[in-house]
Amino acid sequence: MKSYRAVLLDVEGTTTPISFVYETLFPYARRNLGTFLRENWDDPEVRQDVELVVQEAKELARDHADEPDFVPVPDQPPSDDVLRTSVVRHLEWQMDRDLKTTGLKSIQGRVWKSGYTEGNLKAPVYEDVPEAFEVWDKRDVPLHIYSSGSVEAQRLLFSNTERGDLTGAIDGYHDTRTGPKKEADSYGTIAESIGVSAGDIVFVTDDLDEARAADDAGCQAIISRRPGNPEIGAHDFEEVETLSPVVEAGAGS
Ligand SMILES: [Mg+2]
Repeated sequence: MKSYRAVLLDVEGTTTPISFVYETLFPYARRNLGTFLRENWDDPEVRQDVELVVQEAKELARDHADEPDFVPVPDQPPSDDVLRTSVVRHLEWQMDRDLKTTGLKSIQGRVWKSGYTEGNLKAPVYEDVPEAFEVWDKRDVPLHIYSSGSVEAQRLLFSNTERGDLTGAIDGYHDTRTGPKKEADSYGTIAESIGVSAGDIVFVTDDLDEARAADDAGCQAIISRRPGNPEIGAHDFEEVETLSPVVEAGAGS
């Protein structure tokens, strides 16, 4: 491993178990959706999301209305209670299919935010992560996050980990608004925003295509092998099981 001037980290499979999303976050949103909508029904932003869900439900009805288990949202619900209940049931139908409509994603984000804020949700990070962050922070090494989860979701996650608030060590967050993680240009854009050349960045990820894209951009790409990560094909990248070897390489030795 070569030394570097800035660190860029993937989240799932690198700092946090991939299982967190499917075993904790999604079930949490599903369990708390009804309660959340009832308690926040008068929030104008929540109601905007609800209107969006109603629109998207109409669009989905065009392709799915024939399916026996499809749950529509009624056109003229007789009461707010009926509207709310049918929106919840419709969103459960969407979640069963792992759909990613804008309305569903926005409401899920709100449910997670309230879960984190109320202390009911904590994000796991691997044991070596807080110490690595602390060392980079002390050495003034820019530390950036790049995940397909939104920047807001990344901030929430690192503010509310099982090991406390880690955001003090993080200098920047990037999501797919910067560009797709499997395209080299995205890494050039991130390098520019950090203010270093791509060759000065070490990028750690569990995804081989992401590593290749970063490598194409000139970054030093390292593969993260954490427990529970999927098997990946043959490659020539260096692999690490924790962030410690990356921390050590950064000492410039
Ligand atoms: Mg990953």
